[in-house]
Amino acid sequence: MAVPRKKVSRSRRNKRRSHDGLKAPAYEECPNCGDLKRPHHVCGACGYYNGREVVAAETA
Ligand SMILES: [Zn+2]
Repeated sequence: MAVPRKKVSRSRRNKRRSHDGLKAPAYEECPNCGDLKRPHHVCGACGYYNGREVVAAETA
């Protein structure tokens, strides 16, 4: 088994882990119904995208 030559310092280990945090999922308000939707996606509540209904509104 390969063995690390040097112990990784707290500083080095923490710097490596500085990129490990999870980012909160992006959401914005739908301009039509005000519900939260993902940017650049059709709204799941009213089916609107770019000011017009592009898919039938889903119930529930
Ligand atoms: Zn909507």
